[in-house]
Amino acid sequence: MNRNSQNGEQECTELLQTLIRNACVNNGAVDSGDEIRSADVLENFLEGPGLELETYDAAPGRRSLVARIEGSDPTAPTLLLMGHTDVVPVNPEHWSRDPFGGELVDGEVWGRGAVDMLNITTSMAVAFKRLARSGFTPRGTLVYLAVADEEANGSYGAEYLMAHEREAVMADYVITESGGIPLPSPNGLKLPVIVGEKGLFGVRIKVGGTAGHGS
Ligand SMILES: [Zn+2]
Repeated sequence: MNRNSQNGEQECTELLQTLIRNACVNNGAVDSGDEIRSADVLENFLEGPGLELETYDAAPGRRSLVARIEGSDPTAPTLLLMGHTDVVPVNPEHWSRDPFGGELVDGEVWGRGAVDMLNITTSMAVAFKRLARSGFTPRGTLVYLAVADEEANGSYGAEYLMAHEREAVMADYVITESGGIPLPSPNGLKLPVIVGEKGLFGVRIKVGGTAGHGS
């Protein structure tokens, strides 16, 4: 076993490449996203001793996956590690590489979702599996959620789960994307803590220029 496989880097890289190649592009339509493909990959990856798995379909193809490591103390606070599996659309002609190729170039994985947020969805899954396999029993229950439909308005992901599967996803604390990004300040680096995200407000706008993140 080399260093990379010991520290999970190889495992993270391969899982990230697979999720990028699944191209779970969410354009807001119910029949887009098709996150079931990445939920299935994560289910196969996590399946095994030390954890419980459940999947929830908000609509055909719009699958979210929940894994739990039961805590020893039911009164202890619970922690949710949450990553989304969908990505925003791409304009491939503006990409220097295949946005869904998941190529590994000079130690970096390329593709839509590589930094938002399949990297985190992946590394959380790898850490969660390692904890489960090691026989780790937290005091408070530890939950992993690979959620669908984050990039549109969450109707087929978080909103659905909160409305229909609240017990499965409720937690005292959540770690997810955003927050923790170092911001320089006169008193040194600050780390933001996000307490809420995001609302929906529909407008129609037309802009010209170079496409960036969030399209
Ligand atoms: Zn994101």
